[in-house]
Amino acid sequence: MMLSHTSRNCWEIYSGQKDEKAMSALAKGYIEFLSLCKTERETVDYAEKRLRAAGFSPDCKTDRVMRVLHGKSMCVVRRGNAPLKQGLRLICAHADTPRLDLKQHPLQEQAGVGQAKTHYYGGIRKYQWFARALALHGVVVKQDGTVISVVLGENMRDPVFTIADLLPHLAQGQAEQSVAKAFDPEKLNIILGHKPLFDVDKKKNRTAKAFELGKPVAGKAPEQDAERGDTREKTPIKTHILSLLQQQYDIIEEDLYSAELQAVPAGAARFVGLDAALIGGYGQDDRICVFAALEAFLSDVENRPSHTQYLIFWDKEEIGSEGSTGAKSRFFEYCLQEIIAAWESDTRFSDVVLASKALSADVHAAVDPDWQELHEKLNAATIGHGPCFCKFTGHRGKYEANDAHPEYIAWLRSVLNSKGIPWQMAELGKVDGGGGGTVAMHLAAYGMNVIDCGPPILSMHSPFEIASKADLYATMLAYKAFLQA
Ligand code: MN
Ligand code: MN
Repeated sequence: MMLSHTSRNCWEIYSGQKDEKAMSALAKGYIEFLSLCKTERETVDYAEKRLRAAGFSPDCKTDRVMRVLHGKSMCVVRRGNAPLKQGLRLICAHADTPRLDLKQHPLQEQAGVGQAKTHYYGGIRKYQWFARALALHGVVVKQDGTVISVVLGENMRDPVFTIADLLPHLAQGQAEQSVAKAFDPEKLNIILGHKPLFDVDKKKNRTAKAFELGKPVAGKAPEQDAERGDTREKTPIKTHILSLLQQQYDIIEEDLYSAELQAVPAGAARFVGLDAALIGGYGQDDRICVFAALEAFLSDVENRPSHTQYLIFWDKEEIGSEGSTGAKSRFFEYCLQEIIAAWESDTRFSDVVLASKALSADVHAAVDPDWQELHEKLNAATIGHGPCFCKFTGHRGKYEANDAHPEYIAWLRSVLNSKGIPWQMAELGKVDGGGGGTVAMHLAAYGMNVIDCGPPILSMHSPFEIASKADLYATMLAYKAFLQA
């Protein structure tokens, strides 16, 4: 018997041909998913399509139910043999990712360039967003309710967008500032265009007309109002941008007020390294968990599971789980209540949640090879060593943490160990040196057992996050073992 314990390298465990083949197939599917799904809506759409193909529908009278809220979060339920009062096997993950959202009045023109102003969403390091190709993803909703989907900058035929960075020759002042002060978020303005539109035919060009009719908005500086009233002469680049938007999407400037347009890194996810053993791409926190959970959930969809399985994909985790589609909302509760009413109306909601076991599927920080001093290495996650349990998140004396119960952790150990699935345990950074929250505490509020569990990631929250192919595989197997336990 081994007295001491160390985590194991997944590459060693999964070195057999069968595993390597399955690992590669999973990674390939993941790269396609990651390249396609860059917003919460796109992620939920993707999951919805795959689940519908597997027989899931909103109908609670069936054994395979899925519900989508506002296109941004979803609950998925698959009925098990055991009655609901024996609890759910629940995995939740979040589909939103840090990015730059276009402001409601995004368009401006200055110094020969047409720009879109942004307000960042979630925890970004602002300097990472300059001088790189960006794509625009999102929706514009017209007054009549028409929802126009926008994906611009992904197809090689599309133009991309970018934020210009300061040249080193003029950056001396900036270089002396702290990182926190050096990057003004009001300078995160995305270049949308450059060519002016001078010859606007008043009668024929609908864009110009629509724009002229647009009312000046209260609270703007007088010179900007003057600008708005006489756009064709003073802001011909902006007029051209509006004209192109009108031609392409049949929208006018006012439609941008009822829009959610997100600037995200353009381009596909890629394998990284000579061995192609790592996966690089935007939005892996937390889409790697969404993907792994979905794959685990759908891998054995034909056989009825012992316990009812429940997936939740939430939105707004990166901004504190607020809003109607975040984990603090009642959506999960409403869905489960409907399921109970349809399947076992005599069962109490509290009995179901109290008996449930949950994984808060979210990524963990891997030890950064170049910043090892920021981790307490005895309690840090190593990339390639499998999914990482985090007993508590929070910060400074475990504040705002869900502190998972040892009885539950013991049960999870037995589930994974009995199947030979590698796992590790870690906390985020040194004590008082870091911290962060997840949705675990919002499920814990129901009294259910829950713990954070997800793969370690390098460059987390950056435009190019790094995950290990082996961790993706081990995480999917861990989620599958959990769902079936
Ligand atoms: Mn996360
Ligand atoms: Mn995050």
